[in-house]
Amino acid sequence: MHLNFFQAMGGFNVKNISTLNPGYICPQCSLVIHDPVQLSECGHRQCQSCTPIEQQATITCSVCQTQTRTHQLMIDRGFKTEMQSLPIECILCSWSGQLRDYQQHFTLLHPHPICPHCNQSFQSLQHFNQHHLQQCQQRHQLSIDCLLKPFGCHQQIARDEKQQHYLSEQHQQAAVTLLRQIIAQRQQQSDASISCLPQDIEDRLDC
Ligand SMILES: [Zn+2]
Ligand SMILES: [Zn+2]
Ligand SMILES: [Zn+2]
Ligand SMILES: [Zn+2]
Ligand SMILES: [Zn+2]
Repeated sequence: MHLNFFQAMGGFNVKNISTLNPGYICPQCSLVIHDPVQLSECGHRQCQSCTPIEQQATITCSVCQTQTRTHQLMIDRGFKTEMQSLPIECILCSWSGQLRDYQQHFTLLHPHPICPHCNQSFQSLQHFNQHHLQQCQQRHQLSIDCLLKPFGCHQQIARDEKQQHYLSEQHQQAAVTLLRQIIAQRQQQSDASISCLPQDIEDRLDC
């Protein structure tokens, strides 16, 4: 019975989500993909439970807006196997391990999940996930803009998730942008100062 909660809720809610390759994150539920289905027209993947295969004839990819017919969609077994060894940190405790063991860990250790931000307890993982992702006021209040926002990092980070955020791809990209700007500035400055140097030093710099 408990195992079905994972199926119903979409993906896996994990603490280190921002360190994982974006290809492992479901664009529908923003969690680690559970039972990946690959959209055949564009190649993007999402959870089976986030994909209305029986209800709709076509689905629109929320990443690239490409439409795929649902009739031949099925679980991408190879990708699912590849994901089993992903390093995972439990959203609720200090447990870390591989994705293959996370479901069992969660079912055994957290049958009634308690929100780490506001201490509210929940009857099921599904309720907790909904709360954690959308409703938890405490979590949203604690979220801040990244310092590198002016350089292209637009993620909101919870204070206790800073370390993970700094390792995320978007943040690293922003850090590179920042560095490039600093280097460009330095170059401008040193170009300017070089042209003010006495002629003999300038000659030496040339060779
Ligand atoms: Zn999903
Ligand atoms: Zn797509
Ligand atoms: Zn745990
Ligand atoms: Zn909460
Ligand atoms: Zn950032």
